[in-house]
Amino acid sequence: YVAKQTSSGYAAFTQKMVRTTEHGLSLLSDLRRAVDENQFYLQYQPKISLADRSCLSAEVLIRWRHPTRGFVPPDQFIPFAEQTGCIKSITRWVLARGLAQLAAWRAAGLEMSLNINVSTRDLVQQDLPALVRAQLLAEGVAARHLCLEVTESAIMEDPAHALASLNALHEMGVQLSIDDFGTGYSSLAYLKKLPVQELKIDRSFVMNLDLDDNDLNIVRSTIGMAHHMGLKVVAEGVETESVAAQLKTLGCDGAQGYLFSRPLGADDFHAWAVAARAANPPLVLGAPGEP
Ligand code: C2E
Ligand code: MG
Ligand code: MG
Ligand code: MG
Repeated sequence: YVAKQTSSGYAAFTQKMVRTTEHGLSLLSDLRRAVDENQFYLQYQPKISLADRSCLSAEVLIRWRHPTRGFVPPDQFIPFAEQTGCIKSITRWVLARGLAQLAAWRAAGLEMSLNINVSTRDLVQQDLPALVRAQLLAEGVAARHLCLEVTESAIMEDPAHALASLNALHEMGVQLSIDDFGTGYSSLAYLKKLPVQELKIDRSFVMNLDLDDNDLNIVRSTIGMAHHMGLKVVAEGVETESVAAQLKTLGCDGAQGYLFSRPLGADDFHAWAVAARAANPPLVLGAPGEP
């Protein structure tokens, strides 16, 4: 299975999976079957504007209900799907299902945009710009209502190909976001070359922001640097009012976390968003980056 060992973490993970396979559970064939047999479903987590607590977009998070293992979290199968190439069909499915849901919400009058996670393989081995263009057209969704999240490490694995895909997506009008910022090793100088509009600070720096001066300083300087480069900043993993208040003071634009809402099924998200819209109408209607 080991198509490419990029880090010792992945190698160890894959070896563990191979051992599991020897015990009779083939995660690879299970993953392949999962798409066909409808074992995946999507949840949506609100992204909040810290200025007014309004919600104009949601992050799509995949869930796997395995017939015998039960719930398998994405951290346990996405890295494996990336190793084996299965990620390409997973991403196609997530895009199709997510955009169909977005189109339905917008048709029902809910002003909303979506953030969708994509991987290295998607950027370098799949014609992601063509795929995204076709799926946006199929659902009648404008490109500006879609934001793709890419990690720094995904870009750094094959910067030339990744940059070509990101540029093509940007030219189409798709928004781009750097996910888990701070956990990779990309230089700030490199970030300047990327056509991204949003930077998401990894939750490891955010969770104890109010208790840890190092985290506070990292987040403060990240926000300053990002704003200097014209990027919006979103903090991940906001669980307390105290952290939310500090982030607002620091000028952070957006936030996600259990404080506002856990990831929700489509119907629950719709109900949550309608209630949130009534309680906290956006000061300016229109998603970030929207004309
Ligand atoms: P991510 O993109 O950084 O997503 C954020 C993760 O943080 C999600 O975990 C979310 O449920 C969790 N989270 C949100 N708020 C809080 C909070 O307040 N506290 C804590 N402790 N956690 C919070 P999840 O859903 O388990 O996803 C894990 C990772 O799996 C994602 O990290 C992403 O890298 C990957 N992933 C999820 N869905 C997809 C997908 O459709 N495609 C791809 N390629 N990757 C995905
Ligand atoms: Mg993400
Ligand atoms: Mg993230
Ligand atoms: Mg993360």
